[in-house]
This record gives sequence, C-alpha cells and structure tokens, in this order.
Amino acid sequence: MSSGRSRPDRCPGALVLHEAADGGLARIRLPGGLVDGGVLAALAALAESFGEPGAVELTSRGNLQLRGVPLGRRAELADRVAELGLLPSATHERVRNIVASPFAGLTGAGTGSPAGTPPPGGDGAPAAGMRLEDLVRGLDEALCADPELAGLSGRFLFGLDDGTGDIVALAPDAWATPAPEGHWWIGPAGVAVDRSGAVGELQAAARAFLRAAADAATGIGGDHSFWRVRDLPDGGAELAAGLRAGRPAAPRPAPRPAPHPVGTWRRPDGAHAAAVHVPLGRLTRPAADLLATVAAATRVDDGRDQASPRGDPPLRITPWRSIVVPCLGDPSSFAARARRTGLVTDPGSMWTRVTACAGRPGCASALADVRADAARAVTAGLVAPVALADGALVDGALVDGVPVGGVPAGGIRAGDMPSGPPGVRAHWSGCARRCGRPTGPHMEVVAGPAGYLVRAAGAEPKESRW
Ligand code: SF4
Repeated sequence: MSSGRSRPDRCPGALVLHEAADGGLARIRLPGGLVDGGVLAALAALAESFGEPGAVELTSRGNLQLRGVPLGRRAELADRVAELGLLPSATHERVRNIVASPFAGLTGAGTGSPAGTPPPGGDGAPAAGMRLEDLVRGLDEALCADPELAGLSGRFLFGLDDGTGDIVALAPDAWATPAPEGHWWIGPAGVAVDRSGAVGELQAAARAFLRAAADAATGIGGDHSFWRVRDLPDGGAELAAGLRAGRPAAPRPAPRPAPHPVGTWRRPDGAHAAAVHVPLGRLTRPAADLLATVAAATRVDDGRDQASPRGDPPLRITPWRSIVVPCLGDPSSFAARARRTGLVTDPGSMWTRVTACAGRPGCASALADVRADAARAVTAGLVAPVALADGALVDGALVDGVPVGGVPAGGIRAGDMPSGPPGVRAHWSGCARRCGRPTGPHMEVVAGPAGYLVRAAGAEPKESRW
C-alpha cells in the first residue's frame, strides 16, 4: 500500500525555519556529521545570543539544529551559516542528508583506517586507508551540482557505511558499504561497483527515486508526495530492479558490528581519539568551546585526517547524540575537562541510553516537559517511568500492577521507576508523533493526557531492504 503524503515535507533548513513554540528552529545539514571545531563553537555562541530559548541540538541524523531563533534575526542566521561554510547551495541545503559511520578509521573495526593501519583482515576486508570523508565530500559535491536532486524531500537519506553496519541500520534510502576486493555494495540496487563508481550509483538511485515518486503520485491523482523509497507503492522493489539494469545482484556484505565507544581510546595507528555523549543532544556553549579548543590543538601532519581550513581534523557528530574527536593530542586531562562542561565520558552512564524530543516548552504539541522528566529519571538511575517484569520489555497496560499510562508527567519519583535491564534504551516523546525516535529495539515513553505510556518499540523494520 502506498504511504504517499498529501503534502510536501516540511523539514526545516537554515533558510526556511520551522516555527516552534520557542521561536524559529533552523536545521543545518552537516554531510557525514563533519564539522570544524571552530564552526561548532561559533554556532553555540550564536545560539546563546538568542537568549533563553537559544540552543544547539544534535539530531538523529548527525546534523545540528538551532532553537529559539528570533523572528528579526533569520537573515542574520542565514548569513552567518553561509559565512561559516555550511551553506554551499541554497537550492540543495535541505537535501544534503548524508550520514556516515562516525568511527570510521578510529577503532579498527571498519574500513577508513588512518595511515599505517593494516586492513581489518580476513576475506573481503575493505581496502586499507580508505577515507570515508572523501566519499562524503564527493557525494555532497555531486548532490549540490545536480539541479534535479534539489527536488528530493528533506527526508531522503544517503548512507555511507564503513562496514560495521551502523549506518545501514539507520535504513537510508540510498547507501554504500564496503564489499570484497575493494568494491562498494550499493543499496537499494544490490550491485557491487568499484570505488570510483559509488557516488554515481547513489546519484542515479536518487534520480530514479524522483522519477518513481512522480510516477506513483500521477498514478493516484497527483496530489500525494513520496518522501522516501519505502513510501513507494511497492516499497521500492521495482526501483531496485531498475537500478540493477540487468546487472547481476551481488551478495550483500555481512556487517561487522562494533561498539560505539564513549570516552578516550587509542586508535589503531597509536594516536588517541575520544567520543563524548551530549545529554539529550543539547550542546552547551562551554562544551562546544572545549571541543573547539581540543580540536584546534591537534594538527595532523600525516596527511590522513581530513583537515579543516585551519588544519585541525573535523569533529564528527554521530546520529546517537555524541561527538567524536578523531585526534586527541592530550588524552590525560580530556575526560575531566569534558565532564566539567556537562559532557559524558562514562560509557556506562544512563545518559547514553536516554533520548528525548523537544517536548514542552519548545513544542506546542507536547503534553509534558519530557526533557525535564527524562533528566529526573536519569538522576534516579533509571531510563523510563515504569518498566519491566523479569527483564523483559512489557507492552501492556499494567506492569507489576502499575498502569503504564498512569504515571503523572512531571511527578516522577525514584520509587516509581524500576530500572530497565542492562543496555535497554528509552526515547521520551511529548506526544504520539515520537519525533527523533531511534531505530532498533528500545522503550518508548510517550506522554499522553493521563501520563506516560511505556512500551517496547523499534523491533519492526522501518524500511524494506531491496
Ligand atoms: S514528539 Fe510531539 S511533542 Fe515531541 S517534538 Fe514531536 S510533535 Fe513535539
């Protein structure tokens, strides 16, 4: 069944903002999550100048958004974003949605290894020394140079995976992942191509999607729009077959799952890297300033890290509300300094397991201040208002006799909230739209008129995989 919408998507950008209850909401695309530390600090300073509602937030696609933009400062915002080099194309700014494995080259688990690092090994190991950043930049440039692709929705997602499967798990619409013999496996076409062909294949997939979406809209009277491949009437099967264009389908490479580190660690080449979790995705100015200082202190002379205009390697915003510092000059004091700014460096912290939408007061649809309630839960050592029996997620009206819809928003006490099993994640939402919910199994904590509803979610695939 078609899931076309009766309206175009309204994803905000830097030029067309979403009008939230706390002011304008601007979303700034960062292909591959790459951002210079100085640029991050400049955005944090800009958000602070908006006053109390001003904030920089990390999104579930590794982008940034600025909240609380006053009506009279929209033009200034656009100018500043352009000055910072974040607006290479006014026509394509909302469609530069490229996520890339943020730990590529830093842990030895996937491809994209820094200089001198041996390949991950074994049959089918991707080529050593491949830089995922190069593919990100190549795809971004090709995207912006293609007028047709300005017609993509703000939700169409490109994915570049390092072989660990972390990006493929986000169900992108067009994606590439390393395949044997230095090739790249392209989805949804299901073919393997050499590296030089990867960008062209992704571009072709996006163009073909636009044509398929137009045909599908015509077929149902022309008043619907299709934002993503999975929205197509057949889920994208015909699109995938057309993209193969008679070529044999290649076996899909098995992912090599790897943990996402939080804290500091030694890279395979002996240098140090760090990743910090940003509680509920809201980045404070002191935290941004620290990250900029740390990044600026690191000049990479081996030619392997992608240098920013100033010479320091870009930070990497992850889709999991964390920021990777790919090269860390002095790891000894970093964790303590980061903690002082509110960043999380303990991989066992409950903060790494809890996300939340904007909620009150930023969103007019919200029924609760979910961020404050989630923070209370974390302070109590918990991830959700009510949870579980026998270590299993519960999808029902009662948990140990407690009605899951009956926990008063804002009235959570530690005793109300048994902890979830190790590793369980929770996403808090102020209403049933559940904005920003993660892929994969988690508990969803949804505010309703009578309190929070807690249930298991995320086990169902979000997208067909052709
Ligand atoms: S889930 Fe509801 S309350 Fe939360 S940001 Fe989305 S629309 Fe607003």
